[in-house]
Amino acid sequence: SAKSDPILVVDGVKRSFGGLTAVDVEHLEVQRGTITALIGPNGAGKSTCFNLLTGFDRVDSGRWTFEGRSINGKRGHQVARAGMVRTFQLTKALTRLSVLDNMLLGAQGQTGERMGGAFLRSVWGRQEKVNTERALDLLERFKLIDKRRDMAGALSGGQRKLLEMARALMTDPSMIMLDEPMAGVNPALVQSLLHHITSLRDEGKTVLFVEHDMDVIMGISDWIVVLAQGRVIAEGRPSDIRSNQQVIDAYLGA
Ligand code: ADP
Ligand code: MG
Repeated sequence: SAKSDPILVVDGVKRSFGGLTAVDVEHLEVQRGTITALIGPNGAGKSTCFNLLTGFDRVDSGRWTFEGRSINGKRGHQVARAGMVRTFQLTKALTRLSVLDNMLLGAQGQTGERMGGAFLRSVWGRQEKVNTERALDLLERFKLIDKRRDMAGALSGGQRKLLEMARALMTDPSMIMLDEPMAGVNPALVQSLLHHITSLRDEGKTVLFVEHDMDVIMGISDWIVVLAQGRVIAEGRPSDIRSNQQVIDAYLGA
């Protein structure tokens, strides 16, 4: 619908690295309950945007609200608790922890290489049962249940992407941001990932994802935001974006 109900509103967010302006977003809104694609050439600032908005990097200036509340300056796990989680372009599954322990770690909305399974269990205490049940449900849904005792390092690249998505859902977020969830994933698993993304939207969650495959983008997105050199150069419905000359130039001229 045309009704505006943004879950995320970004204003004047800037981040430079040395002399390079990586992100310079004047205004950006993500509408609740949509699948929104963030697209743009390599180096456009997509991952940096995710890092900034989810508290994994610091802005030089700017502000943003999630669910109407300012989350400027909050760290990753605080942002996760507020209901906004993200996955990474390079998966962060902890290779020497079991799949199930990776999920339990997700319940905290943060990761740490030095945390072992014993530590996790001591931290969780009474919460453990609830978290374990939720983890097993998600592993079932993502068809990783048979792998729960395997080390995450033994999973295929595609299965790790699924694990990362499942783990991000441990805190029951209202918005999930996926950074190239389909990269390096075999075609069968791509279909499965697409199915999971659309189901999340159909359950009322908001999805913001970075992707390069135009067929995938056009196929599942409700809205597309195009970033080039850190700036939003266009946004609109898939049919508008497909025929937008600026977008074609940004991709083909890169
Ligand atoms: P995208 O995800 O769209 O490919 P990135 O956000 O990764 O783009 O990068 C945007 C720009 O910022 C690139 O030029 C990249 O080299 C630069 N960049 C990103 N992170 C850093 C960093 N930590 N230090 C220096 N430059 C960075
Ligand atoms: Mg990136």
